[in-house]
Amino acid sequence: MNKTIFQKIIDREIPANILYEDNDIIAIEDINPVAEVHALIIPKKCIPTLNDLDPMDADIVGKMVLVAKNLAKEFKIDESGYRTVFNCNDDGGQTVYHIHLHLIGGRKLNWPPG
Ligand code: AMP
Repeated sequence: MNKTIFQKIIDREIPANILYEDNDIIAIEDINPVAEVHALIIPKKCIPTLNDLDPMDADIVGKMVLVAKNLAKEFKIDESGYRTVFNCNDDGGQTVYHIHLHLIGGRKLNWPPG
């Protein structure tokens, strides 16, 4: 299987602005931000879509949410508010098939999304 762009970032084959990293997770700035704060929280294990999640992945997904919470505090958007999003497959707007949690904030976000 070809490496995803996120796997290449994890493997340091292409650059990214890294916001956080541990053994299981990397968080980077989105290259095309839709708000003042737009981070991507990515597991190092390549899981293509949410549909591929296994019960064994529950810890990693929980950790991703905790990293999002901590980054929101670091970026000082925890009180003003923010959005966390997993896009899944084509109708969900997924373009990179390696699951990632978007953390978006720093402006008033519309609902429902387009
Ligand atoms: P999604 O559409 O949910 O799959 O989100 C993929 C996200 O990855 C988009 O917001 C892109 O802007 C972002 N992205 C694509 N390539 C890169 C890259 N090389 N570095 C950082 N973010 C990227």
